[in-house]
Amino acid sequence: MQTLTSEQRQFFETAASTYAADLAADTSAQEYLKGRGFDGQAAATYRLGVVRRPLVGHESYAGRLAIPYITPSGTVNMRFRCLGAHDCKAEGCPKYLSADGMDSNLYNVLDLKRDSPFICVTEGELDAATLSMAGLPAVGVPGVENWQQHFSKCLDDFDTIYVFGDPDTAGRKFGKFLAREVKARPVRLPQGEDVNSLYCKEGADGLRRLIHE
Ligand SMILES: [Zn+2]
Repeated sequence: MQTLTSEQRQFFETAASTYAADLAADTSAQEYLKGRGFDGQAAATYRLGVVRRPLVGHESYAGRLAIPYITPSGTVNMRFRCLGAHDCKAEGCPKYLSADGMDSNLYNVLDLKRDSPFICVTEGELDAATLSMAGLPAVGVPGVENWQQHFSKCLDDFDTIYVFGDPDTAGRKFGKFLAREVKARPVRLPQGEDVNSLYCKEGADGLRRLIHE
C-alpha cells in the first residue's frame, strides 16, 4: 500500500477543499451532478468538486470533476472525470484521469467500517457513491486493470461481496474477475441500465431490490 508524506496529504486536502469551493460556484457542474442524483448534500458528503482553479501540477485536470479518496485519516488520492457533453470513447478522450504518480486505492473505504454483513463493489467511483447513498455499503475499484492484491484483504470480513458491473462486455469481465479474486456474486442489472441510471429512475429501492430477491 502506498504511504503518503504529510505534504502529499496536505496537498490532497487543499485540492479537495479548493475544488469543492469551485463546485459551489459552478452551476453547470452542479447540474451535471444533479442529473446523476447527487444534490448539494451528496456532493458535500463525498467532497466532490470541479477543477476550475487547478493547483500546481493539476493543470491538465482543468474542467474535470474531482473525486477525492476519503479515508479515516483524510484524503489520500484523487481522480478526475471528464465533464464534457460528448461520448469520451468516440472523441478519444480519457474519461478518467488518475493523479500523477499515484498508485490506485479502493474508493469509499469509509463504508468498510459500516455495520453490514455484505459489501458491494463497483467499477468506478460514482457508482460506489450511488450505492452508498442508497444505503448499500459500497467501495469502488478504479478499473479492473488497477486492481491491487491487497484490496482482497479489505473485503475479507464480509459474509457476502456483491459486484455491480455494467451490463456490457467490460462489466461482465469485471464481475468474473471479482468472482475469481474474492468470491464475489455478480449482480445482474436490468437491460440498458447501470447503477447510476437505475438509481435516478427508481431511487434507492431500485438498487436494494437487486440484492434482496
Ligand atoms: Zn470526455
